[in-house]
Amino acid sequence: MNKSKIGNPKPAIQKPFAKKSFGQNFLVDQNYIEKIVAALNPRKDETIIEIGAGRGALTEKLIESGAKIIAIELDRDLIPLLRGNFGEYENFRLIEQDALKVDFAELLNNPKSDFPNPKKAKLVANLPYYISTAILQKLIRQRGIFSWMILMFQREVVDRITAKPGNSERGFLTLLVEAYLNTEKLFDVPPNAFQPSPKVQSAVMRLITKEVCKIDVEKEDLFRELLSAGFTQKRKTILNNLRNAQPNLKEKIGNIENLLENCRIDSKRRAETLTLNEWINLIEKLHNCGDN
Ligand code: SAM
Repeated sequence: MNKSKIGNPKPAIQKPFAKKSFGQNFLVDQNYIEKIVAALNPRKDETIIEIGAGRGALTEKLIESGAKIIAIELDRDLIPLLRGNFGEYENFRLIEQDALKVDFAELLNNPKSDFPNPKKAKLVANLPYYISTAILQKLIRQRGIFSWMILMFQREVVDRITAKPGNSERGFLTLLVEAYLNTEKLFDVPPNAFQPSPKVQSAVMRLITKEVCKIDVEKEDLFRELLSAGFTQKRKTILNNLRNAQPNLKEKIGNIENLLENCRIDSKRRAETLTLNEWINLIEKLHNCGDN
């Protein structure tokens, strides 16, 4: 194989067994593989990060596009397969690491890397379900470096992400996503598109970082703290949940009834009924109190 070659990598023959502990449900249906790559629309001048390359179903098509591919894979047993199949392509790099521990900004701007250091990358992942919400939270923190993300989730996570006010699925993750990302559900993926087949339905989403975010960076931690306290016990009212908040947040809030009243939020409401603007109003009032 030619070291400088780009495109048309040959698939390998030996494939390790799928491991449940790593959330391994490998995509085998070519239609869906192509649909995901088409949704990402990789171009030669772009850098693409793939989380959980697995047996390389998506990786192979991504390499063919000519884009610079940085694939992350945690399972050591899959590394020889990925290196064997794609290691010689100059537009492919493999990072053997836990994606939850990767600093994506550092990964892109690594001075030692022989890839050019782009300011932004696209991200694609058929996420292992056991870490999908943790990864999403991490991606939101590092959202500035991603122009687009095409992510596959369990459908129930998609329902949570897109839940409107009043829907019982609405929670911490919904509000975080709503605050920072524009989302679009693209298509469902049935269990038989994977090997082994998961017990649940999956769906692919496009997530794009909002150019204008209504929450200033310095209020981001307060926003997370308040959401986390507000949603602690979903059946309780916002008042009762905030009453049980961590001491440092309670100190910032002061009189909880007054805060809710100032924001025109009925204290008997549950957190799931609040709109993003109502949450923003709450942190604005809190932040301003802190300044006084
Ligand atoms: N992209 C492949 C596909 O579509 O067939 C594999 C998808 S499979 C659902 C998830 C992949 O993520 C597995 O290869 C698994 O080993 C890997 N993985 C699991 N936990 C990970 C982690 N913390 N960091 C990086 N990769 C991880």
